[in-house]
Amino acid sequence: MPDVLVVGAGVMGLWAAVMAARAGHSVLVLERDRVGAGASGGLLGALMPHQPDRWNAKKQFQLQALVSLEAEIAGLETASGLSAGYRRTGRLMPLAADHHRERALKHAGDAATAWTLDGKRFSFDVLDAAPVPGWPATEAMAAGVVFDSLSGHISPRRYLQVLRAVLEGMPHVEIREGANVVSIDPSARTALLADGGRISFGHVVLSAGVSSFDLFSSLGLSPPRPIGTAVKGQAALFRGDIDPALPIIFDSGIFVVPHEGGYCAVGSTSEDSFDDPAATDGRLDEVIAAAWRLAPVLKGATLVERWAGLRPKAIGRDPMIGRHPDFPAVSLLTGGFKISFGIAHELARLVVGEMESGSPCKLPPSFTVDAHLEAARREKP
Ligand SMILES: Cc1cc2nc3c(=O)[nH]c(=O)nc-3n(C[C@H](O)[C@H](O)[C@H](O)COP(=O)(O)OP(=O)(O)OC[C@H]3O[C@@H](n4cnc5c(N)ncnc54)[C@H](O)[C@@H]3O)c2cc1C
Repeated sequence: MPDVLVVGAGVMGLWAAVMAARAGHSVLVLERDRVGAGASGGLLGALMPHQPDRWNAKKQFQLQALVSLEAEIAGLETASGLSAGYRRTGRLMPLAADHHRERALKHAGDAATAWTLDGKRFSFDVLDAAPVPGWPATEAMAAGVVFDSLSGHISPRRYLQVLRAVLEGMPHVEIREGANVVSIDPSARTALLADGGRISFGHVVLSAGVSSFDLFSSLGLSPPRPIGTAVKGQAALFRGDIDPALPIIFDSGIFVVPHEGGYCAVGSTSEDSFDDPAATDGRLDEVIAAAWRLAPVLKGATLVERWAGLRPKAIGRDPMIGRHPDFPAVSLLTGGFKISFGIAHELARLVVGEMESGSPCKLPPSFTVDAHLEAARREKP
């Protein structure tokens, strides 16, 4: 019987496994399909902070995570001998009108105090011209452009490969692919598999992406509404003469994210209703057209992949993290929605720390399971 059973091998589950193994536990990861079959196996990998205004615990948590990720990745890369394609390149946000520029100038003042950590200061500068001509296009930035030095990118698939390789080098860790967990019995501390098998555990971490919400319901004591939903996203990958050191471009929900090897990802749609979670369609063509307007150099690049996935969005909109209030052997590690890559390591650290110490982890209040249960009771259908 593993000390810790992790359900799902996306970025959240693999980090839970790493943190539990580092703490000396035996770990079994059960993955329905294959590592990276969910949203984590996508294309973008943007690591972007929240805006620096109206600072709060959630923004502080994310800032700390974005800063600590750099050393974590370096450690994983050393241990695995592989690259995760991580770079802190910064981000450019075009300003289309004067009132956008005024707001950005206020944010620059906010960042001067909020974006400082352990002696490191990250800037949020309002510029008149793009640092590299055409990135972004002049037509897209009539009132200038913001450059922030905090953002970065990571290659989602390489990141998962690195995490997997590290786990495979650790004692008492097993990743079992093709193992579909259909329900959890929190009293008996067992997971029921689709093939009829049962796995006992000391503690279980539910990190099954959008399926975490169904597994949550399988525990019993379900809230009156679903505790989370799936939001579909479509993205595309280009390859051309694109420098991976270029900053991300972000404008009105459109991301342009350079990666190593001349690759550049663009995204994303945000769809609350859909028929086929894996299909791409005309909505992605619109995203690509918008990305071309922002970065015309992409028109000369080759389209190499179109991809779609489902983001886990918990009912409170923020990640849903930590021990279930009614079932102490069950922890949630899900609901990262659009920001999982930058924070998964710190969330997993807290979940495992809580499991070890028995005292509640220090989370932003809106991340707790209780906060989500409360939201589920409050929200109208
Ligand atoms: C188009 C798009 C663009 C995005 N861009 C970014 C970005 O730039 N930056 C960012 O930070 N985030 C981004 N996201 C969000 C990010 O991808 C997700 O928040 C993140 O991958 C969620 O990770 P996860 O480990 O919680 O879930 P997943 O990666 O979905 O992993 C869950 C795993 O659990 C497995 N599983 C499911 N059910 C079961 C079961 N019953 N038994 C066993 N295993 C099961 C699945 O097969 C899957 O492998 C994007 C998402 C999309 C769709």
